[in-house]
Amino acid sequence: MTNTKRPRKIHRRTTVTGMSQSAFAGSAMMSAPGNTPPGQVPPQEAFSMVVDGYSGRGVVVQKGSTIRVTNLRGTQVGDMFALLESNPEEVLDTARTRLVTRRLFPEVGQQFVSNQYRPLLTFLADTSLGLHDTLYATCDQGLHDLLGAGTDHANCQDNFLGAVKALGLNAISVPGPVNLFQNTPVTSSGTLKALPSPAKPGDYVEFRAEETIYFVLTACSVDVGSDINGGESTPLQIDVTPG
Ligand SMILES: [Zn+2]
Repeated sequence: MTNTKRPRKIHRRTTVTGMSQSAFAGSAMMSAPGNTPPGQVPPQEAFSMVVDGYSGRGVVVQKGSTIRVTNLRGTQVGDMFALLESNPEEVLDTARTRLVTRRLFPEVGQQFVSNQYRPLLTFLADTSLGLHDTLYATCDQGLHDLLGAGTDHANCQDNFLGAVKALGLNAISVPGPVNLFQNTPVTSSGTLKALPSPAKPGDYVEFRAEETIYFVLTACSVDVGSDINGGESTPLQIDVTPG
């Protein structure tokens, strides 16, 4: 870890939010899921939402939709998760994705598979330098303790759990995340570095949902003891467009 010289500023856990598709029922463009005949997938409507720094949000995304994640201010890692809507215990699995792709780090064109080897996302586009990670676990209070960041610090584990709870899901274990924009290369000697994300403001990545999923994103909260987020957590934006 790279020590930061920035003054310590404790960021407490904050309220986290999620958003089910029914949350858009008031929109004139949104079809109420309850009106969809059994066996048919309700139509996806285009929408956008911001994931504030030190927080996480989730949303139901219909199969075939495109999901864009934009780094609004740059130098921000986003922990990305996908859970199968019809069975949320089937989740995007980074270890099995590495088995299938035979790569340590994701690249455009590959798919992200579930713990049942089912493709959940296809990596469509990337305007950043292409540095993303699948090795690191989400940050949690234990990591913030190790980093000397103080007690009761906002963290991706709690933000993930809060976001899925807001979607109506309980007792979900935390999957390994895809750490978008995270610059943690492996050295030739096998060690891991933790460097600031090189993402610029406006850089984005895009994915196609291969199944109807719960899509969850947390703006990583690490701000002390490591510079991966440039010393503070800043917002990310999610844009979903119909397939
Ligand atoms: Zn984090």
